Amino acid sequence: MKFGELIIGWYHKNKRDLPWRRTSDPYKIWLSEIILQQTRVDQGMDYYERFVLKYPKVKNLAAADEDDILKLWQGLGYYSRARNLHHAAKDVMSRFKGKFPVVYDDIRSLKGIGDYTASAIASFAYHQKYAVVDGNVFRVLSRYLGISTPVNSVAAKKEFNEAAFLLMGKHSPHDFNQAIMEFGALQCKPANPSCGSCPLNGSCFAYSKNKVGLLPVKGKKIMVRKRYFNYLCIHHGESIELRKRTGKDIWKNLYDFPMIETGKRISTEKLLQMEEWKKHFSKNKVQLFSESKTIKHQLTHQTIFAKFFGIRVSTALSFDGSKSVKKKNLNKFAVPRLIENYLNSADENLIS
Ligand code: SF4
Repeated sequence: MKFGELIIGWYHKNKRDLPWRRTSDPYKIWLSEIILQQTRVDQGMDYYERFVLKYPKVKNLAAADEDDILKLWQGLGYYSRARNLHHAAKDVMSRFKGKFPVVYDDIRSLKGIGDYTASAIASFAYHQKYAVVDGNVFRVLSRYLGISTPVNSVAAKKEFNEAAFLLMGKHSPHDFNQAIMEFGALQCKPANPSCGSCPLNGSCFAYSKNKVGLLPVKGKKIMVRKRYFNYLCIHHGESIELRKRTGKDIWKNLYDFPMIETGKRISTEKLLQMEEWKKHFSKNKVQLFSESKTIKHQLTHQTIFAKFFGIRVSTALSFDGSKSVKKKNLNKFAVPRLIENYLNSADENLIS
């Protein structure tokens, strides 16, 4: 038997029963694919169910308020995915009269949809012949065929896509793509793949050459940037200052506290001497009443070192466009995970 038959046979015996596999609705498949980028299946499932329940059709998502979408997305990270979903849903309504596009190039033209997602939607919803190549597929093909091109290189995309397309042959694009992705997730796993019970072990390059641990090859790691956020939790009576993040930076359109970012870790004394601090607080009666320990928060390309300062002011003030929010309403705003964790652990500071 050949690769395609073996892997599809394996899939029918071993596949997980996942909600987005029970539908051919392109909208729901798109939703699941975007949620599952950078997210584990068990975590993504919950979000998928909630999104489908609240926005069952693309028109519901398009008509939603972005703040509500971001709130529902809260905790998943990579918030540009949620903003792009919203943007693309509106685009489907205006450009495609509310009908999810069928032609690959039209699907690909929607914001936030790259080659991988367009191929997934075209093959899963419409059975069109496009190969999907995600991290799982890279791993399976690299090991099975012995491809040592670094998977994060520009050349890899084309090479692996062509290989997947050739192996797909006349098989159902839907089944083949689902099968190879699921096979990578469950059998040919990154660490300790189950080679002994693998239906492909008779023809697998890496297995026969004892190179399973050496494939796939990954290129150089991207540098991780360190950032230092000094958050100012400015209390005034029952209110606290909150700021919507705008501009080209992480967490766009989410809310956090006003802050002073510094190039390195600084002492509280130094913070109080900074121009930004003096500019905002000199005319105000200020009480610095709490100071958290430094919290390390890891993003893919950035490490954030955050400190939260509890500050009470006698006269309300706005810090770089912040707005006054009742503390009891804080949970209505979409905030990054770092802020959510802080709020969950710092109630006594916020109530005082
Ligand atoms: S034999 Fe091992 S390395 Fe090869 S495809 Fe199967 S699980 Fe992956």
